[in-house]
Amino acid sequence: MGKIDFIEKELQSLKERDRYRQIRWIEEGPSPWVRMNGGKVLLLCSNNYLGLANDPRLKEKMLQAVEAWGCGSGGSRSISGSLAIHRLLEERLARFHGSEEALLFNSGYSANLSLLTALMGEGDVIYSDELNHASIVDGCRLSKASIQIYRHLDMEHLESLLKENQEKRRKLIVTDGIFSMDGDEAPLPEMIQLAKRYDALTMVDEAHAIGVFGPTGRGTLEHFQLSQEVDILMGTFGKALGCFGAYMAGKKSLIEFLINTGRVFLYTTALPPSVCACVLASLDLLDEEPERRERLWTNVHYLREGLNQLGFDTMKSQAHIIPVLIGEPKITMEMDRRLLESRVFVQGIRPPTVPEGKCRLRVTVMATHSREDLSFALEKFEKVGKELGLVR
Ligand code: PLP
Repeated sequence: MGKIDFIEKELQSLKERDRYRQIRWIEEGPSPWVRMNGGKVLLLCSNNYLGLANDPRLKEKMLQAVEAWGCGSGGSRSISGSLAIHRLLEERLARFHGSEEALLFNSGYSANLSLLTALMGEGDVIYSDELNHASIVDGCRLSKASIQIYRHLDMEHLESLLKENQEKRRKLIVTDGIFSMDGDEAPLPEMIQLAKRYDALTMVDEAHAIGVFGPTGRGTLEHFQLSQEVDILMGTFGKALGCFGAYMAGKKSLIEFLINTGRVFLYTTALPPSVCACVLASLDLLDEEPERRERLWTNVHYLREGLNQLGFDTMKSQAHIIPVLIGEPKITMEMDRRLLESRVFVQGIRPPTVPEGKCRLRVTVMATHSREDLSFALEKFEKVGKELGLVR
């Protein structure tokens, strides 16, 4: 037997269980319609929620920054990679959230890993919603803290776990603001109350909420008027802001602590300056063009209502992420395939990304989708849903 035969076996097993993943190639930037396999398909699974990823003004800012600063940052932040433009963006983000400080990270994944492993360790306890993003799950595991998983959104369960662990050194409650696969919202007011009562730190991952939730797009914390109550906020640039990268915002001492102890922050090359220039411009557009957010919400309501009228189960989604629950992997991927044949690209999502039996199509809406685009999608969902006996 060869040394790597086990890989072939594992791959075969994934195929037999309908868990095998294949990368799909899009041949141009994330617009409502994209070229794929030589033809045009409606893109209904991108996180480019506000349509900023190919905004000409942001492209221009990036190009100008490349001219001014070059392509790469040339080092990690703690050696020579900290450029004035990184600082400019951090100051801007702190003002954006009304927090004392902010710190950039290369991605949301690395931000969560860095924070959780720096802040929490042996003798500590992390309370984590069972549907938190994989980067939180991995950060919890790597931290070596005790991990208490509470049932999704269940604050009574969280409280019962908080009661059991009163003697721990540090306590942290961590949650997605908007859940990435279910599109529902964390009960932040109740969570913050519990944190106060049981003396726990709080962290909210706003990856999907920045630019979309709250009266001015500052996220679910703004929506609940809790921006000043949370200890740690994580936001990303790769979704509504149309670029790439992430940040943490919080107290000055927390950021100082991360600069000194966050291994994922310390041991990696800093973000390219052009990314910072793009995000600075993107933050401007967020304030200058609130109509993008309004268009997104109009689109979300239209599509979700349409899907519900057809008889699809969109779970308890309250957001621009609309899960269409199917159940088992085989039929989910068949629906995904047939929709793509009908020129609608919606990715089927299977375990381990979602729990067993909860496979779904994860539909995401963009502000730049037209009413005709969404009606086209609904027509195809109806056709394929009927073919597969999922709706009548
Ligand atoms: N947190 C949540 C809730 C996410 O959905 C994601 C990405 O999908 C991340 C963190 C990771 O962010 P990034 O893509 O910037 O690594």
